[in-house]
Amino acid sequence: MKTLKIAIQKSGRLNEKSVELLKNCGLNFENYKSSLISPVSNFPLEILFLRDDDIPEYVQDGIADLGIVGENVIQETEVKVSYLQKLGFGKCSLKIAVPNNTSIQDVADLNGRSIATTYPVILKKYLDSLNISADIRTISGSVEISPGLGLSDAICDLVSTGGTLKSNGLKPFADVMSSEAVLIGRQGSESEDLIQELIQRIQSVLRAKETKYVVLNVERTNLNTVLSLLPGVKSPSVVPLAESEWVAVHTVIPERDFWDRISQLKQAGAQGIVVMPIEKIIL
Ligand code: ATP
Ligand code: MG
Repeated sequence: MKTLKIAIQKSGRLNEKSVELLKNCGLNFENYKSSLISPVSNFPLEILFLRDDDIPEYVQDGIADLGIVGENVIQETEVKVSYLQKLGFGKCSLKIAVPNNTSIQDVADLNGRSIATTYPVILKKYLDSLNISADIRTISGSVEISPGLGLSDAICDLVSTGGTLKSNGLKPFADVMSSEAVLIGRQGSESEDLIQELIQRIQSVLRAKETKYVVLNVERTNLNTVLSLLPGVKSPSVVPLAESEWVAVHTVIPERDFWDRISQLKQAGAQGIVVMPIEKIIL
């Protein structure tokens, strides 16, 4: 039987969440310590631990069948791979930022200015789309300090909270792209059975993550009002309780809907509300 290979980041911002996702899919493997390849003991799969920049190319060339990497890295390396699934972590934006005391007011003011970045390909496309011609200075890290050192007028870098910009006297100026971790595959490989099985496992974990199992007790007289507030995967189950006037309602609900409805549920007479995490949802 064929053994698949999936490439994930060796260390850095996406490593922990990638490992957690694969473990939640029921895959048993030793986390990276000294070896760069970990075999999975209960699925025909090997995990390759790589620098994130190398992942798109490894997948494009078929050295790895699958990869988990930020969309920003795929766009920057311009490889041709299939996007199989957005993964909901590693969310960030690529932004142009300028010093707090800058004279740059409008995007057009970037004409003729210098912008330091580790994302020259994406930045060039963005500037070209706006007909702006700036001097793109490609550097390999610590981009935020370059305006302070007089090396550039602006920067283009990944931002999640904006804290790093702030502590370097910079402010966000324009959004270039937003990004999150995605599962990628070699083009045309998505029809393979093993890859399909893995995608389905990942989707069942992602679905479960944003959904809760809710159990509550309610008097029969208030049951219909409570049920009208609770859309389940199908309809909620209603279970009789020892006290004949009362029932327990079990349902599965997206967490954000639950928080929207909690006060209405209590007003409608729901009591003893218990919210539990779900491990997997297989449709
Ligand atoms: P490697 O050593 O693997 O090359 P790296 O230093 O290039 O790692 P990290 O800083 O670990 O990369 O970031 C990995 C990915 O995490 C980024 O490509 C991006 O998709 C995502 N990310 C999420 N938030 C941020 C952020 N605030 N800054 C940088 N990257 C972020
Ligand atoms: Mg990198």
